Amino acid sequence: MEKFIIALDQGTTSSRAVLFNKEGQIVGVAQQEFRQIFPKPGWVEHDPMEILNSQLAMLSKVIDDHHVTPKNIAAIGITNQRETTVVWNRKTGRPIFNAIVWQDKRTAPICEALKSQGLEEYVRDTTGLVIDSYFSATKIKWILDNVEGARALATKGELAFGTVDSWLIWNMTGGTVHATDYSNASRTMLYDIRRLAWNKKLLQALDIPGSVLPEVKPSASDFGIWKHGDVEIPIRGVAGDQQAALFGQACFTPGMAKNTYGTGCFMLLNTGTNIQQSKNGLITTIAWGLDGKVEYALEGSVFIAGAAIQWLRDSLHIIDQSKDSEYFAAKALGVDDVYVVPAFAGLGAPYWDMYARGAIFGLTRDTGKDHLIKATLESLAYQTKDILMAMEEDAGIKLSSLKVDGGASANNILMQFQADILATEVERPEVIESTAVGAAYLAGIHVGLWKKEDIVNHRKVQKVFNPAMEAARRDKLYRGWKKAVERCKGWAE
Ligand code: ADP
Repeated sequence: MEKFIIALDQGTTSSRAVLFNKEGQIVGVAQQEFRQIFPKPGWVEHDPMEILNSQLAMLSKVIDDHHVTPKNIAAIGITNQRETTVVWNRKTGRPIFNAIVWQDKRTAPICEALKSQGLEEYVRDTTGLVIDSYFSATKIKWILDNVEGARALATKGELAFGTVDSWLIWNMTGGTVHATDYSNASRTMLYDIRRLAWNKKLLQALDIPGSVLPEVKPSASDFGIWKHGDVEIPIRGVAGDQQAALFGQACFTPGMAKNTYGTGCFMLLNTGTNIQQSKNGLITTIAWGLDGKVEYALEGSVFIAGAAIQWLRDSLHIIDQSKDSEYFAAKALGVDDVYVVPAFAGLGAPYWDMYARGAIFGLTRDTGKDHLIKATLESLAYQTKDILMAMEEDAGIKLSSLKVDGGASANNILMQFQADILATEVERPEVIESTAVGAAYLAGIHVGLWKKEDIVNHRKVQKVFNPAMEAARRDKLYRGWKKAVERCKGWAE
């Protein structure tokens, strides 16, 4: 009997359901974008019901479109935009507020308060993270403090918090399972990544009752059953999108790294069972829990990457589709004067400046649309270089090749510039949806359909970009970028 696995890839801008056959090939994709809500500058929200409905609609669509007999679906794996925070009422099942998205900066003052309590060192040691509004903890506090009646309900144990995976699982299992996996828990800034337990001191510091928290499980385990008509389909894999991509790129051994170019840009380096603390502004995160053990990764998080291309499309209206950026940038090749620093949501690793804001530098009378588009694309590559350098220094290694994936990795101009500016080979696989691949395999492994090594065997390289830029130009360009970044820091303070 033919068997399938479905990966639900609940991203920042769209909900996707991806159908895999037993050979690990993608045989169907259904995708729907949903609304980005920007109530105030620096605030970013999603409607949790829209997340849920779009995701379930895509799940049903991929099954219907490809005429799959539901009985033949061996399992579902879930991967999700991380940190984004949903709080809902356990009785009514309704969210009490919109989801506060990872990019949202409203909780910067709460972070300042934590820092002034001298908690920076403690947070780093316990959770592996830096204190930043990026992570879930301060978002939960904000909701409890600002939604009328929320705190009283939370104290009575009537509210549930979840990252998007938990929100989906809770709804897909009819409210019977309130759970997340290690990789998602490690993004809350409330989870002790050494002891593998929620941390009481941080919960107290933020006045968050422990009763709102989900149960934390290995990434390949039993997350309950989704009923499709009369058919019961098990949910058996869960991981945050970046950790899922690390898994999907088969970065199983310490020293292997991938970089995903989605809404943000995220580079993860597998450090095995070793918890490596960064000295260069990276964070330590749980990669996954699998086969009875937990493995870790060093991570560099860039908040705005593909989102800057969306900005060209949706705010400036100078391109119709993201992929058109390649065509226009090609017309400006060789013109190096313009820099765009897309610090629209502050700067993440390695700078961690919540108050940085975006800017454009080097404009002259002849600067045009093509230059601006090229410079925006290049900002993805420069931000990646910032992180790769920090990572190499922390890990004491030199990466010989960078594995890439995610929507914007389809852009050839960007990938060539990336190889040039890093002076490192860039390797793009045939399937750039590594996130979905990772989630599918976690589920498939748990139900015995696949083994870990199958990912290695199924993965094919589509193209390798070799560095071709002379060192002097590379160094000059990168110096320009560093200068531009300096000028954006602290702008909104
Ligand atoms: P996410 O999972 O974060 O929603 P995806 O991996 O689907 O992101 O990637 C989508 C992002 O990549 C969008 O921000 C889009 O603007 C950008 N993108 C997609 N295709 C291209 C392209 N050809 N060139 C540049 N950017 C692109």
